[in-house]
Amino acid sequence: MFNSDCFNINEKGNLTIGGYDTTEIAAEFGTPVYVMDEETVRKNCRLYKQSIDNYYGGNGLPLYASKALSCKEMCRIAASEGLGLDVVSGGELYTAMEAGFPADKIYFHGNSKTREEIEYAVDCKIGCFVVDNIDELILLNKICDEKGTKQDIMLRLKPGIDAHTHDFIRTGQIDSKFGFAIETGEADQAVKKALEYKNLNLVGVHCHIGSQIFEVEPFELAAQVMINFMADMKEKYHVVLSRLNLGGGFGIKYIPENKPIKYDKYMEKVSETVRKACEERGLDLPYILLEPGRSLVGEAGITLYRICSVKTIPGVRTYVLTDGGMGDNPRYALYQAEYDAVIANKASEERTVKVTIGGRYCESGDLIQENLMIQQPETGDLLAVFGTGAYNYSMASNYNRVPRPPIVMITDGKPRVIVRRETYADIVNCDI
Ligand SMILES: *Cc1c(COP(=O)(O)O)cnc(C)c1O
Repeated sequence: MFNSDCFNINEKGNLTIGGYDTTEIAAEFGTPVYVMDEETVRKNCRLYKQSIDNYYGGNGLPLYASKALSCKEMCRIAASEGLGLDVVSGGELYTAMEAGFPADKIYFHGNSKTREEIEYAVDCKIGCFVVDNIDELILLNKICDEKGTKQDIMLRLKPGIDAHTHDFIRTGQIDSKFGFAIETGEADQAVKKALEYKNLNLVGVHCHIGSQIFEVEPFELAAQVMINFMADMKEKYHVVLSRLNLGGGFGIKYIPENKPIKYDKYMEKVSETVRKACEERGLDLPYILLEPGRSLVGEAGITLYRICSVKTIPGVRTYVLTDGGMGDNPRYALYQAEYDAVIANKASEERTVKVTIGGRYCESGDLIQENLMIQQPETGDLLAVFGTGAYNYSMASNYNRVPRPPIVMITDGKPRVIVRRETYADIVNCDI
């Protein structure tokens, strides 16, 4: 009935998460509130880890793409499950370091890393930079030279795979701001340059072909292209690229129509492709990295909102207006992301009313979803939006000076705050 089996309906007809009544969470912690089920997050982590063990002899590592939800407790959970971490900014790196994340398992992404961020990451002794462009390559080498260190790097490549996803979140093809193109010879030149730099140690290549992908084929295609490139570079420059990072982008169930693949299927199929391609090209099997973000945390989270008003415009539509909106979830406003929602205190009732869910922010586009069937809404009801564990808190803003909601995690059937609610004092904290 719901997108994850951490949700249920109790005898009072209320929605539960991890066995805990959502109306009690709202009463204890206020609204809006993000709620995560820890068990579901950990299960997802294990599925990726086990898939590498089962299908690839353990010769690899899933990295949690922390941009999906970066906070100290998520870093601790990823660390305790034995995952590595993908960070894309100094802030995400700082979060990881504060959480005690093992630095050698951190990979630093990003297409516009600043000098300060690069210096900070080198000082943290992170495991690997994923270098996006020539300017970064030059700067990183210079910084490592100044600091007298040598840094492991991978190169981010564009394998030219179109993973049939929304233009805004498509990143594999040539017209992308991320990475070096293979087709144009740009990637080849980057390898050549990287090998000339004595403070850089080129260990492998990376690609990330998009997001919310439901097919395995694009990943297999990408793996094939990448292995061919690695073999070409071995022939041309006698360099052994021992790590292959295939990125993330594994689709999750936002709405009933979404049909995600069980996450271990990716590794099952991709490892076959990799084995075959390596055999054909005479390469040793590379160490494989995966970078799931959304699929580790997305389905494990909901957002609870209080309905502040219901506005029916005859012959037009019914607005259900909540105490949150684009400040805590900008994804519908940004790219019409799909979400499912129910009235948490009426979860067992029929969904009979078509509504548009709007927020409290001063923008007409401040919507969470349009034309969604939900239970008969009334002011004071509790609205639960599913699939908000990824790219909600991490994309939240203080627009209209609204404090960001807390994250409550259900652990062993009990709620605990892992990120506290912002206060008005937090809002003016940086004001002079
Ligand atoms: C965003 C991103 C990911 C994670 O993508 P998901 O769709 O959340 O799995 C992984 N790797 C890179 C380089 C990314 O930019």
